[in-house]
Amino acid sequence: MANARPERAEGPAVRQDEPAPDSPVETLEGVGPERARRLAACGIRSLRDLAEHLPLRYEDWSSRTSFAELTDGATAVVEGKLAGFKEQASRFGPRRKIAGAWLVDEDRAALRLVWFNLRPYMRLRFAEGTRVVARGRVQRDRTGRLEMVHPELRAADNGGPGRWRAVYRLAAGIGQNLHSKLVGAALAALGDRLEGALPQELRRRAGLPPFAQALGELHFPPLAADCRTLELGRTPAHQAIALDEMFAFQVALGLDRLKAARRRALPVAAPGRLSAEFLARLPFNLTAAQHRVIADIAADLGREQRMNRMLVGDVGSGKTVVALWAALRAVESGLQAVVMTPSELLAEQHYGLFRRLCDPRAVPGALLSAAVNDGTRRRVLAGLRDGTLKLVFGTQALIQQQVRMRNLGLAVIDEQHRFGVFDRARLATLGPGAHVLLLTATPIPRSLALVLFANVDVSFLDEMPAGRCAVTTEVVAEQALERVHELVRDQLAAGAKAYYVLPRIEAEREDEAPRAAAQFAAQLRAGPLQRFPVELLHGRMRAAEKEGAMRRFRDGAARVLVATTVVEVGIDVPEATVMVVLGAERYGLAQLHQLRGRVGRSTRRSFCFLVFSPECDPQALKRLAVLVCHAAGREVAEADLTLRGPGDLLGARQSGVMPLRFARFIARTEQIAQARAWAEQWLARDPELSAAQSRGLRQAVQRMLGRGFSLSDVG
Ligand code: ADP
Ligand code: MG
Repeated sequence: MANARPERAEGPAVRQDEPAPDSPVETLEGVGPERARRLAACGIRSLRDLAEHLPLRYEDWSSRTSFAELTDGATAVVEGKLAGFKEQASRFGPRRKIAGAWLVDEDRAALRLVWFNLRPYMRLRFAEGTRVVARGRVQRDRTGRLEMVHPELRAADNGGPGRWRAVYRLAAGIGQNLHSKLVGAALAALGDRLEGALPQELRRRAGLPPFAQALGELHFPPLAADCRTLELGRTPAHQAIALDEMFAFQVALGLDRLKAARRRALPVAAPGRLSAEFLARLPFNLTAAQHRVIADIAADLGREQRMNRMLVGDVGSGKTVVALWAALRAVESGLQAVVMTPSELLAEQHYGLFRRLCDPRAVPGALLSAAVNDGTRRRVLAGLRDGTLKLVFGTQALIQQQVRMRNLGLAVIDEQHRFGVFDRARLATLGPGAHVLLLTATPIPRSLALVLFANVDVSFLDEMPAGRCAVTTEVVAEQALERVHELVRDQLAAGAKAYYVLPRIEAEREDEAPRAAAQFAAQLRAGPLQRFPVELLHGRMRAAEKEGAMRRFRDGAARVLVATTVVEVGIDVPEATVMVVLGAERYGLAQLHQLRGRVGRSTRRSFCFLVFSPECDPQALKRLAVLVCHAAGREVAEADLTLRGPGDLLGARQSGVMPLRFARFIARTEQIAQARAWAEQWLARDPELSAAQSRGLRQAVQRMLGRGFSLSDVG
């Protein structure tokens, strides 16, 4: 590989002899407390952070355009001698100055360079007569002559600037040049001490470059690099760091799994009367998939080791029934169970189902909600503490903050994708011997689920209850919205309910108004749906307001819910038959599928309209078409994976909470499987990560666990 040294050796020196990767950025000459604070606001605290903060894009400074070939509107790189530097007052007032200079080429042709706000350093750094390379946008001045606006200048001596110039997301007050110098200094200071997670042996066998070298190439790409490959994140260096990180992640998951396997559970007795009666009393037959999953859970509960199972099932596939069954298995063994949900409404919904299906005398249960009065709350908490209450439903927050249980046997976490996977440790405070059952509707291809959730056992609930009809899905242009309103009116008149989902809450610019929930709701009330009560729901409302709006919609006081994607989670309003998503091209397929899952929850025919905006590109339309063709979450997820590739899918999943920074560069699903296989091999050899070769790995895993994360929502 070509050398990856920073192109200029000068620049900030280092104050310390052998700084470590986690040394603070202040170790670098030129970084004091103020700059350190600014960098920290950008997530950069250590030298490693600086090295791992990758460029947003790259500029190619290698080509040269002759003055005669310049065209209006293009960005170009030109070379020449600086002449005639001049500051002058701007037309916009005496305090604003503009600066101008001339660039003179070999043929004595001249190009005017203009800066509309003064850049004093320009004059300081480059004296007149200096040969420079300038890069900037070319446009016509008022007289029609071409000039270059706000060009960036670099010295043309010593062979000129290197070919590549990385462009970063910057901390306030730190320019591209300074940032790049800091990165160069950090890389130079750390050298090989900037270790990745892959042990040398594995790395060599896979033919991957050392971690520090790969990062170096991403900041200062080799001359021969290809711009498109760089910007797509497909260079060997990108692949190397993504694999390195995925390997660390797989090891973290593997360690978590090993740790969990050593945890003992409270013994759960053989199936008894309560759980059997519950199944017998269900008003429907279980699907084959539900039977299969119940058998998985039954086997887990029969072991001494704690269950750690995740149930992956499409929206509406009937996860709740399975979870209630598992809870009853704990209760009939004399243990307690909790069912935790991300919202109060969901807790109420589950509790309602439980009350319909179970005899409260046989199973003393309670709903712990923020709304219950103090007396009730005290009674519930006391009952849970002394063990007379067996089953409690509530939000994660409420339960974790307040509840002490006498003998918790099972914790169910619904919609777990809103909750951290490594966070399960916190459950231990509720009951050290509890089995854990996680439920998620995140549509994710099996191949990915098995590696991303490698720290738990996974069961797939991949069959819908009989009698559901597929939701009729249509892709519609925004201009044709009136036709959609018409169908909504018909459905509402027939007693149904409808959702409209929009990408933003309020419009700040006029062109955003058609896709902003607040404006849209007002518009519906004024016109197309004026005969029907319309409710607004969005993420900026307080929790109680949100629940109020949702409740009015569920109970029928409102018939139309205009919302941002906050409606996505778990709510079951069977009378809803229409889902209209505006600006649909902005959402991931998985998320759209989740939204669509809000309807089609009864035997009534249901509709989903994916409304695209005028600026939607053909590629996005093609993605939307996947939903028209595929009804099952699994199929949608597979199609999404094929269309976007694993990197995009994982990148969207991160939304700031996954511990993966480089997963978006993963090009093929097999790379994830490869990382998994390496992790298993290595853990079998060095389960304590105590070997010398495991040092980088150990630190990477610690950083990952330290950051804490949840496998968040699919975007
Ligand atoms: P999810 O998996 O999205 O959490 P729910 O558990 O809320 O789905 O189930 C959706 C609806 O389907 C509920 O009204 C539930 O009672 C019903 N249901 C569950 N299992 C079956 C089944 N085997 N046959 C028919 N309806 C079922
Ligand atoms: Mg559910």
